[in-house]
Amino acid sequence: MNRAVQQTTRDLRRHNRSALLSHLYLHGPVSRQDLIRESGLSSATVSNVVSDLINDGVVAEAGLVGSDGGRPRTLIRVRGDFGHVAGVDIGETHIQIGLFDYTLGTITTETYPVAGAGLEPESVARLVVAGVGEVVSKVGLDPTDLLGVGVGVPGAVTAGGGELVYAPTLGWQATPLADMLRRDISVPLYVDNCARTLGKAEMWRGAGRGAARAVVALLGVGVGAAVTTAADPLRDATSLTSEWGHTVINVDGRPCRCGSRGCLEAYVGAKAILDDYLGLPGARPFETADTESRLAELVARATGPGPEAEILDRTAKYLGIGIANLINLLNPDIVVLSGWAGATLGPAILPAVRATVTRHALGYLQGQVRIRVGELGPEAVAMGAATLPVVRVLANGGFPLA
Ligand SMILES: [Zn+2]
Repeated sequence: MNRAVQQTTRDLRRHNRSALLSHLYLHGPVSRQDLIRESGLSSATVSNVVSDLINDGVVAEAGLVGSDGGRPRTLIRVRGDFGHVAGVDIGETHIQIGLFDYTLGTITTETYPVAGAGLEPESVARLVVAGVGEVVSKVGLDPTDLLGVGVGVPGAVTAGGGELVYAPTLGWQATPLADMLRRDISVPLYVDNCARTLGKAEMWRGAGRGAARAVVALLGVGVGAAVTTAADPLRDATSLTSEWGHTVINVDGRPCRCGSRGCLEAYVGAKAILDDYLGLPGARPFETADTESRLAELVARATGPGPEAEILDRTAKYLGIGIANLINLLNPDIVVLSGWAGATLGPAILPAVRATVTRHALGYLQGQVRIRVGELGPEAVAMGAATLPVVRVLANGGFPLA
């Protein structure tokens, strides 16, 4: 074979490995027969690729499943212990770093509270580097053992090398965060918008599994939403973020930190909810100091009629209107309330949110949509960030990137 043919053969093998591995990652465990049917590849190709993946420690056989009238079929699954990835959630109230196995099983997390706006990029970068070192050392690993590190930021990230972060809520303008981190982290490192990566994690492992079009709402101090279609969740083009938090729900309403008025975030962002509560007659001062604990305190106090219940009811109405707008605009089949504030508030306000959506979304769209609280727990955003290195390794056919 000449070199061009060898190259083409190698590319084709890698492409087939990537396609089958991605299917196993999202839908496994499945049998070789399922892989043949879903991929359209020949049985010989599937058999060869699966053997290679087993030999390389990427996938393993996972028991038998009965088949109609035929021999039992062997299931194949992706091995979580194939490698480790780290995910970093840079938020306005905390920086959280999670260590995950390759199938996004949580191994350990570290959370560092931070104080609001004006986070210095240099100090954030130092904290991230130290935190990644800390989570890997907890399980006897070294940062160089990682397949990669993903970082989720609450802002826009320019594509390509030398990615720049624009995150007004952090006070960051064209911040070269990725390059800053790459000075100290030698494994592949990627930075992307946190709502977008969270959307992927909810589609792969959370409440969005099996959805054709999901809207994942990220609720925290800031409010965002990612729209993800299931056609191929491994491709970035199938996921886009929106500044949902800055869509206006009230003409001439409250001032928003973006400079506009009446934005959704000015009503359902965590700080807005707490300020709103403290302005009500009968509101009691909080016993805790930080935003996350205070919101949990507010929810815990709302056991009967009073200003706490009133504020949660109001929040549910505003959030319900925001979600009804999303439904009317995008016709999703699921809306997932995620992020730390979504996890704190969601269970308490979900029935009232649904009631508001019923009043404001068009009937024929409502019939097709479910509204759920995210299932990924408090490390959801870090897990979302960890999808970034996972995607790259899947796209590379299960070969770690240098
Ligand atoms: Zn705004």
